[in-house]
Amino acid sequence: MTAVRTLPIRVPPIDGEALDSWLEAIAARTHSAFGDLLSAMALNRNDAISSGAWIVRLEPEETAVINEATGASKARLETMVLAHYSDRALRINPNTGTISRAFPWGRAVGSRFCPACLEQTGGRWQLAWRLGWTFACTIHNCLLADACPQCGAVQRRRTHVGDIIPEPGRCAHAATDATGRAPARCHTDLTNAPVAAFDADHPVIHAQRIINAVIDDDTPTFGVYRSSEPPRV
Ligand SMILES: [Zn+2]
Ligand SMILES: [Zn+2]
Repeated sequence: MTAVRTLPIRVPPIDGEALDSWLEAIAARTHSAFGDLLSAMALNRNDAISSGAWIVRLEPEETAVINEATGASKARLETMVLAHYSDRALRINPNTGTISRAFPWGRAVGSRFCPACLEQTGGRWQLAWRLGWTFACTIHNCLLADACPQCGAVQRRRTHVGDIIPEPGRCAHAATDATGRAPARCHTDLTNAPVAAFDADHPVIHAQRIINAVIDDDTPTFGVYRSSEPPRV
């Protein structure tokens, strides 16, 4: 393994943040093209099939490199990829490192997003927004947005384009009328995406809270299961 350079600027991940979001935030802060940052992190697996596979599962050597470059602990890094939810909200095929399609609602394509969360965090994306089980924000009591309101692109289906500096909170897809090898970006401010809002006690928000609790606790704590504790002797 070649020597790993420690990054000159530390950008701590926020709670619940997805690895891709955090790496884009680092690239933005250090004014680096995203591809250059991925190379520095040894995340540029260069076969097309595994491109972006690191958002599903990090290989041990990748975790070690990111840990050394950023100072983020290995335990923290493992909470930032989808393997964190393995067998709770999705299932990962141990041989291929890909998401099993058989697990119900395992993974939405790309990532939904809460515009208000993006605004409050400067464009940082929650890992849970990638789950098929996550459809609402229980902080802002709204549905998540499915796509860019301007170009219609579902966000984060692929790794961020490598030859530009990421701009967190903006749509990085090619603009709908763009052409050529380096097409102009859509650049729409995703914090303005329209979403349906609810009261905090609306059934939709309540349902999302229960789902979050079940996924986070790994143990059902409601309904029929509540009374199924072993009897005292
Ligand atoms: Zn939110
Ligand atoms: Zn767009």
